[in-house]
Amino acid sequence: MTKGTVPFVMTKGTGRFVTRVVRGRTSYSWMEIMKTWITRKNGIEIFRLLGIRCNCYLVRKDGISVIIDTSVRREYATLLRRLKELQVDKLACILLTHVHFDHVANLTRLQGRFDCPVYAHSLEEGFLREGHTRLPKGTKPFTKLAIGFVGNNVWRMHRFAVFCGRVFTELSDDLMVVLGPVFEQLNLQVLHTPGHTAGSVSFVVDSEIALVGDAMVSQFQRDVFPPFANAPEQLPTTWRTLLDTGCRCFLPAHGSEISRNQVERGISKYRAV
Ligand SMILES: [Zn+2]
Ligand SMILES: [Zn+2]
Repeated sequence: MTKGTVPFVMTKGTGRFVTRVVRGRTSYSWMEIMKTWITRKNGIEIFRLLGIRCNCYLVRKDGISVIIDTSVRREYATLLRRLKELQVDKLACILLTHVHFDHVANLTRLQGRFDCPVYAHSLEEGFLREGHTRLPKGTKPFTKLAIGFVGNNVWRMHRFAVFCGRVFTELSDDLMVVLGPVFEQLNLQVLHTPGHTAGSVSFVVDSEIALVGDAMVSQFQRDVFPPFANAPEQLPTTWRTLLDTGCRCFLPAHGSEISRNQVERGISKYRAV
């Protein structure tokens, strides 16, 4: 390992990526962060555009692209660069798994640039108008401690640009729904997956791969329980719902690909929470 290089070992199948600290700034190898999944059934592509802080995904088939979540402000230039590299000059829509600063900080600029519809769950929409959300409750000893220490005002540190545009809230359905031709083209279905926040949703691509936002994570030694959740007791049910889709893997906003076995283990471990 060279001096100044900090290794992070990611879960099986994703190899290792390296963060290099250069004059106080952080850069990383895109070759190792970028990953693409292609569904077996219809060849739909899923690109991980950004890593480290918050994963953003692009889902694409035959020139139709949608983006899921928008990451933090400082990643905006990188996000645009990644879209350019993939020759994306049009977005059919922006989909939000939920409204937390690390998922929506670039929403206003991105929507302004691509002039495309935005979808979010109706329970999350109001936060976009306020430009902040309170962090959910801590679920791990260190996050409980952190929230206890900074208190509910922690949201002041995590403001984001108020979004004044129209938000389509058809994602409110409790059942899986197919929304319009874009969603049919991408065989994209929406699933209400509460627990992290009340209006959290997941997107199931081709009945094969689910983009789950913060409904689960893969950063804590294979423990899928997110470090923050408003209603942690709902998460095992949400995970069961996601498993019932038959998806072969789950892509979280934080960390790398999660297997069905990992989710099963999480259900067994936390059923009684
Ligand atoms: Zn979140
Ligand atoms: Zn997040």
